[in-house]
Parts: sequence; structure tokens; C-alpha cells
Amino acid sequence: MWKRSFYVIWAGIFAVFWLITGTAYAAGGGGVITTDPTQHFHPKGKMPSEFTAELQNKWRQFLPFDDKRDFEEHQKGFIAAPDYKQIMAEAGHVAWDIGSYEWLLDGKDFDSIHPSLQRQAILNMNYGLYEVIPGIYQVRGFDLANISFIKGKTGWIVFDPLTCKETAAAALKLINEKLGDRPVVAVVYSHSHADHFGGVRGVVDIKDVNSGKVPVIAPIGFMESAVSENIYAGNAMNRRMFYQYGVLLPRSPFGHVDQSIGKNTAAGNTGLIPPTRVIEKDIEELTVDGVRMVFQNTPGTEAPAEMNTYFPDFKAFWAAENIVGTIHNIYTLRGALVRDALEWSKQINKAIYLFGQEAEVMFASHSWPRWGNERVLEVMRAQRDTYANLNNGVLHLANQGATINQIHNVYDVPKSLQQQWAARSYHGSVEHNSRAVINRYLGYWDANPTTLIPLSPEDSAPLYVEMMGGAKPILAKGKALYDQGKYRLAQEILNKLVYAEPQNQEAKDLLADVFEQIGYQKESPSVRNSFLAAALELRSGIPEGDTPKTSGPDMIQAMTTELWLDFLGIRLDSRKAEGHDFKINLVTPDNDEKFVVELSNATLTNIEGFQAKDADLTVTINRSDLEKTMMGAVDFDEQIKSGKAKLKGNREVYEQLKTMLVHFDLGFEIMPGTGAKDLTREQKPFEQEPFADTSGG
Ligand SMILES: [Zn+2]
Repeated sequence: MWKRSFYVIWAGIFAVFWLITGTAYAAGGGGVITTDPTQHFHPKGKMPSEFTAELQNKWRQFLPFDDKRDFEEHQKGFIAAPDYKQIMAEAGHVAWDIGSYEWLLDGKDFDSIHPSLQRQAILNMNYGLYEVIPGIYQVRGFDLANISFIKGKTGWIVFDPLTCKETAAAALKLINEKLGDRPVVAVVYSHSHADHFGGVRGVVDIKDVNSGKVPVIAPIGFMESAVSENIYAGNAMNRRMFYQYGVLLPRSPFGHVDQSIGKNTAAGNTGLIPPTRVIEKDIEELTVDGVRMVFQNTPGTEAPAEMNTYFPDFKAFWAAENIVGTIHNIYTLRGALVRDALEWSKQINKAIYLFGQEAEVMFASHSWPRWGNERVLEVMRAQRDTYANLNNGVLHLANQGATINQIHNVYDVPKSLQQQWAARSYHGSVEHNSRAVINRYLGYWDANPTTLIPLSPEDSAPLYVEMMGGAKPILAKGKALYDQGKYRLAQEILNKLVYAEPQNQEAKDLLADVFEQIGYQKESPSVRNSFLAAALELRSGIPEGDTPKTSGPDMIQAMTTELWLDFLGIRLDSRKAEGHDFKINLVTPDNDEKFVVELSNATLTNIEGFQAKDADLTVTINRSDLEKTMMGAVDFDEQIKSGKAKLKGNREVYEQLKTMLVHFDLGFEIMPGTGAKDLTREQKPFEQEPFADTSGG
């Protein structure tokens, strides 16, 4: 059954990529869903080994399982759960299914799951409406994030309306049913990630926002970050999501169990209503519907644009996504700019001294609240210190010579923090976060010239395999290491063999077995999923996908024309552009924008606000029409045919440009011999001398 599962990716969050990259994989609910987890065991899958089981037992002894406060807190204030487990998307598929993880509540310990991760996965099974304190409520377990409701004089102030319209609307319906019907009087976006704004159309009518009746409040820099953070490398990020988020893994003790900050992401209609009130100062106070709110902008922490909020009259601190039930990603494995652990720590410290001294409750956009000033401060301090120690401890070692290729084996969290649940590294593992700190300050090079211009793995592997005597002894040694539980040594040599012989299924299967055990052993679901996803692809290739017909007009509307033109520059195949030069003036009369788009030196650039006198071609199209092309709904040729786009000058350059643009495909290969080869490898084989013809024609 698992075989027929489609790739399931969150069209919600990443709808905008589908649209501009024309990628073709499915939106659904994430993984295969049934209530019997054992049904999803891969035919080639292996049970946890004795070594894995022994390690899990050690964790059960080492970690503070006697501290059960999180379990009291995650249940506290429970009001009601709905009588359904699934939320349907408007498109007809399942957008959300908390029931697919219910096997976690059977009380079994699984040796295929790190005990700490299993604990976190159970805590994230919160489902329904909860009271934080009288006047503040949360609906949890309807999406990756929580949606929060503050009771004003006349209605609800909604904090972070989830990823999609369907789940946000269901949450609003639930609270209105249980606590009485109230209108939504304001929406606050805590930060620029789509799981915190994408469902806004499920809680407000855009007419009420446009008329000024319902303000939409956001931190400084929100729109730029919300739209641009993931565009340029979008297709690569989406492909890597299959690893970090395990979107092709079945939900089972042997597959996807949790995503640290929640179970998973809902897959429905994602929208965006631009904010009407931007919080610009570091600290800014605002009263809405009688509710006093003190905002603390925290740019450059978990998101480029983010803010905490303090409610003085409730003595309640909203920590946005800056403090949740896990240490977060300094480097997120799907790919993103490395974040700043020191700044993150400093902003938490600022919150401690601004609000933490009197806060009686802390709640956030993920996880569960903490009650009592002492407990609030304990958690704030634990996370402040963990981020600061990560930054300082890693640089302390780097200044003594530890490199990006060693630091994860050297740096460890102080013992006292290891024993605090709030300081455990689920979302960002200690390993990948510590490497990220070095990457932020020193970059990816370890200063050994061998690694400055290293061979590509597929180029170096054949030499290693030859020197090691071929596949046979490598497989024998790999199996021996596997049998001894020495998985990281085993992966080192088997990985070489797989790169040298991508069609050697025996080698791929053994490497998959190794990855699987490492995945079972990891506390961070990001890391676990990455190993398990690679194992799955090695065993049975990349499954075929299906194409969703979702659209995200809000996101496209919010995307600047410049950003879209920049992305065309990325889509340009330089090799095909060689020898061509032209200038195109682009005019969009309805919003009064002008650009020069120039192809020169096989490179496509653009500049806003200018027109070239000697342009080869002038293209005039309203921005509102252009958006249909930007989202892939209407081909540009059709725009010309229908007269929406007018071409003046040499039409030939438009035809040329069309042939130079590549549509990115989400199905590119990561592990060797599992799918379509990456074509860029044909461009510059390493054996070639610098003066050989590398133009490819
Ligand atoms: Zn989030």
C-alpha cells in the first residue's frame, strides 16, 4: 500500500513554488494513512537492531522521564475536542488527519523511535480547544502550528491563523461553538512563515480587511520575508523537504512520527492577506478591542520578521515561535539561510527582562503553554542558554581549530541543559545546528585545501572502490560493520560503493539498512526523516507523484515583478543563451512599473524603473494579467494571442528567450541510482581541462 502513496508535500506552504516552477507532485495529507502502523513496514525494512534497542534503553535511563510537568501542561485547560479527526480540503482531499498518529497513544515503547522523540510525538498529540487563561484560548492539533484567540470586548483577536483556510475555519468554528459566537476583530501574524498566516482567509473576509474593519497586524519586514524567503532555491528546497519532513514516509513507528513543533503540516488552501498595520518599532504598544498588547520585534531569530507579544492585563507572554517545546533550527535541513543563535538568545533575554519578571503564563505558536512565573522563567532561561551556548561553545572550539567537519563530533550541550526537556534539540539537532554556527561565521570550508575544490562524490567514489578491491570486499566489510552496530563507519564505505555503482541494488539495500538504524536512533525528527527517506529511495526509488491543481493567487499577488524576473534569470539555461544578446522593455501599465530585462554574456538581468532606448522588444501587459502567467495558469503565448500582452519590435527575441528557460522538476535524484540524473553534471565533468570545449554545443 505504501508503494502507491503519492509524494505528499504541503502545497499549502509551498504552493508558490509549484506555481512558478511548474513542479508536479501531489498535495494530500502527508504520507499514507491507516490506523495500523505495522501495515506500512517496507518489504525490505529491518526491525531495530539489538544495538539500536540498547541505545534506546540507555536514553530511557539517562533522560529525566520522571519530570512529567510537560504532560500536565499540555493537557491543562482542555475544553473540548471535535467529534472528527480529519479536516477536508476544499479540493476534496484530506487536508489534516490527527487520527493517523493515534497509534502513538497506545502506551507502547517503540525501539524504532528515540524515546525522547516518542515523548515529544505524544505531547504533540494535543487536539482540540484549550484555555490558556480566562480570555486566552488555543486550538491545537489542527495543523502544524497552534491558532490562538484573545477575547476582546466584542470579538476575537486571532494570533497565527494556521497554514490553510480549511483548518483555520474549522478552529474558528470550534471555538465559536464551544464559547459562543464572536466576530474576528483583528488578526496578528507573529512571523513570516506560512504555517502562521496561510489560513487567514478562513477567519476573515478580505472585504472587512480592506474596509479597515479588521486590522491585520504583522512585524516589520513581514511581506518581503513571507514572499521572498523561499523563491530562488524553491525547487531544491521542496525536494529536500522530502527528507527533512519525510513527506513520502508512512506514518508509523518505522516512518514519520512527528515534526518537533507539531505533527505535520495541513495541505489545503493557502492564502495571504497583506498586513494593514505593521509594527515597526523595537517595542510598540497597541490596544485593539480593549486588549492591550506590547509587541517586541525580534527580527533575525526564528524568522527574518518575527515578534513576541506581551498582554500586561493578562500577565501573559506570547513567545511567537521563538520559544516552543524544542530547540529550533539554526540551519533547517530543507535549506535556508543559516540563522543567528546569538541574536535568538539575546531576544529571549530581552523578553525575560521586559516581560518575564511578571508573566504568569507563556504561550506560543507551537507546543503548549507554561504556567507560573517560576516555570515560565525556567523555560525561557533554558532556551536562552541553549542558543547562547550553541553559539559560544561552537565558536570557542572553532577558535581552537575545530572545523565544520568535526564540530558535530566535538561540541555538546552542557550536562545541566541535557537534563531539561525544554532544551532538547528536536527541530534542530545539536549536530546540524553546531555545524550551522561555523557555517554562519566561517562558511563551509574547513581550510584544508583538499576540501576547497573537492571531487564530486561520483567522481571520487570509483577510485576508492578500485583501491578497496571492488564491490565484494566493501559489501562484506559493510555487512560486518552493520552486524556490529557500527553504522556510521558502515555508511562511510557503502556510500562510496553506491556512488561508484549506482545500479548495484545490493549495495543500495545495505546502505538503506544502515541509514534505517541511524534514523531509528535519532532524537531529531528532521534527522530521522532524512535518513529514513534516503533509505526508502535507495530501496525502491523515488515514487511517482501526482499533480495537484491548487493555486495560490494571494502569494503570487504579493510577489514583486522583480522577484519573478530574478527567478527567470535562475531558470535561464546559460548554455543555450551563449551568443545571444538582447534587451526587452517590460511595461505593466496598471501598476505603473517599468523594467529593462537584458540578456548579455549568457546572463539574464533586470532593473526596475528604467527603459532602454535601444530595446529590441517592448512588452506591455497589465500586472494583473501577468500574474496569471507567474502562477502558471496562462501561458505567455496565450496572453499575446488574446491581446493582453502586446509585443512591439523584434518578436524573435521573445521566441529565443522561451527556448532558454528551463522548467525545474521536483523529481531530481539525491541518492545515486534512485531517479532522474541531475543534468548539470553533463556541463563540467571534472576530468576536463579548462580549455576544452565545455559549452555543450
Ligand atoms: Zn511555525
